[in-house]
Amino acid sequence: MSGTLSWTTETIAGWGQYRPATVKICRPRSGHQVEEALRNPFKPILARGMGRSYGDAAQCSGGGILEMTALNRFRAFDADSGILDCEAGTTLSEILDWFVPRGWTLPVVPGTRMITVGGAIANDVHGKNHHVDGSFCAHVIDFDLLTPDRGVVRCSPEQEASLFQATAGGVGLTGIIFNARLRLEPIESAWLEVEYEPCPDLAHALAVLDATDAGFRYSVGWVDALSGDGRGRTVLTRGNWLPASALPPERCAAPLRVPRRPELSIPYRMPEWVLNPTSIRFFNAFNWKRFCSRKRAVIDMDRYFFPLDSVANWNRMYGRRGFVQYQATVPLESAQCLTELLRRSYQNGFFSFLGVLKRFGAGGIGMLSHPMPGYTLTLDFPVRDGLERFLRECDRLLLDWGGRLYLAKDILALPETIAAMYPRLNEFLKVRAHVDSARVLGSDLSRRLGWDDRNG
Ligand SMILES: Cc1cc2nc3c(=O)[nH]c(=O)nc-3n(C[C@H](O)[C@H](O)[C@H](O)COP(=O)(O)OP(=O)(O)OC[C@H]3O[C@@H](n4cnc5c(N)ncnc54)[C@H](O)[C@@H]3O)c2cc1C
Repeated sequence: MSGTLSWTTETIAGWGQYRPATVKICRPRSGHQVEEALRNPFKPILARGMGRSYGDAAQCSGGGILEMTALNRFRAFDADSGILDCEAGTTLSEILDWFVPRGWTLPVVPGTRMITVGGAIANDVHGKNHHVDGSFCAHVIDFDLLTPDRGVVRCSPEQEASLFQATAGGVGLTGIIFNARLRLEPIESAWLEVEYEPCPDLAHALAVLDATDAGFRYSVGWVDALSGDGRGRTVLTRGNWLPASALPPERCAAPLRVPRRPELSIPYRMPEWVLNPTSIRFFNAFNWKRFCSRKRAVIDMDRYFFPLDSVANWNRMYGRRGFVQYQATVPLESAQCLTELLRRSYQNGFFSFLGVLKRFGAGGIGMLSHPMPGYTLTLDFPVRDGLERFLRECDRLLLDWGGRLYLAKDILALPETIAAMYPRLNEFLKVRAHVDSARVLGSDLSRRLGWDDRNG
C-alpha cells in the first residue's frame, strides 16, 4: 500500500514519562512509506515501536518519528524449522497470541509483551532466562535494514556481520528494520512450574542464585528495597516449562490456553504523594506475605513473564514528573556493588517502588548489547529533587566496579560514563558513520551522549 504519509506534531516520552519530546510523527503502512519518510525534511529521523523504553532512546526532539506498529504482518512461518518471518512493527503480544495456542513461543521475552520486534532487536532485550538462552538477537536469523547511505541491506550474524552487530542493541541509529526472521521454539503447555525462595537480604539472594540457578531455565528476584534499612529482602521466583503430561488435571483439556486476566488500568496520573515510603512499605509487606505463603506453584506464562502487563498505564502511578528506571549490571565478581547501591539509595532517601534482580550469562552479539556475565539490579525511582545528583554518584560507584547501565532505561548518564561502560562504542560509531554519513538518523539519546558528532 502506498499513499501520502501524514505527519502530526505530538509530544511523546519514554515509559518513565520523564523529559518528554515534541516531534513530528507519522505511521507508515508500507515499506514504500518508510522510504518516503526517510526523505522528509524533519531531521533527525528515528524509528519507534511501542515506546516501552524507559528513557530517551525512542524519541528525537524536533525531529521526525516513524511509529512502526502498523507494519505488523506475519510474512511466513515454517513449522519444520520454527522460523517466523514478520514485519518489524509486529508486537511480541501479537506473536504470542497467534502462536502459543499452536504450540510455539518466543525463546526470549522481556518483562512486558507490549514491545515490537524492531524494538526488541534495537535494544537486544533480555528475559528471565539470559543465563541459559542469551538475549533476543541470539535467536534472530536475519533482518532487512533500510540505511540512509546503502539502501536496504540484509544482515545476519554471517552476512553483513558488523552491521548486524551494530544494529543488535544499536538503539535505532543504524537504520530502520523492515522485517526480521526469528526462531520460535515448540512448547507443550503454556504453564510453568515455579518455586519461591524468600531470602533475608540481597546478598543472600545473590549467593543462592550462584549456588542453585543451574536447575532453572527462568529465574528472577523481587527485591523489597526498603526492608532492613536497604538490605533488600528478596523473593526468588524460578521455574521451568511444564510438559503437557505433568499438568494438573483441570488444565489438561487445553494445555496451551492462557487464561484471560481482568483488564485493569490506571486512568490518569496519580498525585506524587501516592507513592511514599509508607505506601511502598505497605505494598511490599503485602507482596512478601503473598510470596512467602507459597513454596511452589503452577502458573501460566503471562502471570510469570509479564506480571506488570496486568495493569495498563501503571507508569502513571509515578505522577506528573515521572520516574527513572536505573538498571545496573555488574560482573560476577562485583556482586557487592549491588548491595551497596541498594544501601545508598535507602540512606539517601531515594526509595525504589520496585526492585528486580536477574542473573546474566555470556554477553550478547551486539556491539552495544547490554548484558555481561554477572548480575543485574533494576530500581525505579520517582523523579524528585536531587535524584540526578544521586544517580551520578551511583554511576561512579558502578564504574568503579566495572558495571554498566542499560541504554533502554537510561536518561541521565553523561557521555564519558557510557563510553567507559561500553568498550565497543567506537566500533559501533564507525559502522554508524559508514551507513549514515549525513546523520539522517538520531535520537535524544545519541544527542545527549555526544554520538552525533563522532565517527568512532
Ligand atoms: C514493564 C516493562 C518491562 C520491561 N522489561 C524488560 C526486560 O525484562 N528486559 C529488557 O531487556 N527490557 C525490558 N523492558 C524494556 C523494553 O523491552 C525495551 O525498551 C524495548 O526495546 C521496547 O521495545 P519497543 O517496541 O517499545 O521500542 P521503543 O521503546 O519504541 O524503541 C526502542 C528502540 O528501538 C528502536 N526501534 C524501534 N523500532 C525499530 C525499527 N523498526 N527499526 C530500528 N529501530 C527501531 C528505537 O529507535 C529505540 O531506539 C521493559 C519495559 C517495560 C515497560
